Amino acid sequence: MSTLFENCRILTPAGVITGFLGVEGKYIDYVGETRPAKAYDRVRNFTGRLMMPAFVNAHTHTPMTLLRGVGSDLSLQEWLFGKVFPIEDRLTAEDINVGSRLAALEMLSCGTGSFTDMYFFPEETARVALESGMKANLCRPVQSFDPAERGEDSARIAQALDLYNAFNGAGEGRILVDFCVHAEYTCTEPVTKYLADIVRERQGNLHVHLSETKKEHEDCVKKYGKTPARWFADLGAFDCGAFCAHCVWVTEEDMDLFLEKGVSVVHNPTSNMKLGSGFAPIQRMLDKGINVALGTDGAASNNNLNMAEELHLAGVIHNGYTGNPTVMKPMDLIKMATLSGAVLQRRYDTGTLEAGKRADICCVSLESPHMQPDLDTAALVAYSMQASDVKLTMVDGKVLYENGQFLTLDKDRILYDVSKTVKRLYS
Ligand SMILES: [Zn+2]
Repeated sequence: MSTLFENCRILTPAGVITGFLGVEGKYIDYVGETRPAKAYDRVRNFTGRLMMPAFVNAHTHTPMTLLRGVGSDLSLQEWLFGKVFPIEDRLTAEDINVGSRLAALEMLSCGTGSFTDMYFFPEETARVALESGMKANLCRPVQSFDPAERGEDSARIAQALDLYNAFNGAGEGRILVDFCVHAEYTCTEPVTKYLADIVRERQGNLHVHLSETKKEHEDCVKKYGKTPARWFADLGAFDCGAFCAHCVWVTEEDMDLFLEKGVSVVHNPTSNMKLGSGFAPIQRMLDKGINVALGTDGAASNNNLNMAEELHLAGVIHNGYTGNPTVMKPMDLIKMATLSGAVLQRRYDTGTLEAGKRADICCVSLESPHMQPDLDTAALVAYSMQASDVKLTMVDGKVLYENGQFLTLDKDRILYDVSKTVKRLYS
């Protein structure tokens, strides 16, 4: 099946053009201003629409949609220990499935085609990603609070390996399995080192939370005499592929370490502001050449999975914080929300609209009043676009969402399941 989208605006790595985008099977086979010679099975007139790469949400906890809005306006400690943990203790595998399906609906309707997740019962999220047609990098987070526990005896590491063996590469590569240490403050040195060796052996990708709060960062320096970034590096955790969410309190030396080790960073501006964690030095990281992607974090600390909003905030907060309106450029912001996320996920065949790349596409209407006039399309996407402007989300050439309709998921059924689950969880 091949489709030609005609008369649309197209966001290419070289700039925005008006023309034609051809999709053959899972791949883009044409992008250009002139009509291709090839005959396509289907031709669709997309006048007034912008084709851009589908968003990559590079750090989230999708099942936490079930905790959306819980304990808002509490301090981080009260929120986490008083509200979030008691509910999480009651979540079953079935609940995780329901929460992940709700998240998939939300992400697809906001133009997200791929996400990197960190949560327990990840095999349920994998099943949802397979069913929905989305791409997902999943992991089983490892934690250890017992200094005597050996990596060999960690049930969580055994589960992480089971997940890797069962799902890595599933769905013709749509599912990739990463490894994960939840954070320095939730894991011991021997268990982290043991897992780092496993990741290195498999040439895997390691997902961690790092220097999210000032307290976490400073407590680590007090306890170990080094920053969380140095702690992970000294345990060999950065000797394979690795990426760190948050990085709000990282030092200049930490950033140099990321660059030296090829570690990617995920910026989560909404979550960092909502929880009062601070502002990550994103411009310093970009200047140094670190790969910085964008993520929403979980719906409990955001409270949505809307990458258009995240893009907007990443743009304005750093200008405001630094007092310099030239800090974040629209094309750099869009790259953070798309290509940089794909690189972090080790999906090197997607993230831009070019012939030969995977057809992972988000189509945005330019016809709403707030999207006119179209004088600078990249600036429209960065600063004016609303998630409701997303009209179509395509992954590997397959339309998963179009004009309010979900083509792989049963929205009514999911909303029914969510209401039933929530009644039980919060009764
Ligand atoms: Zn997180």
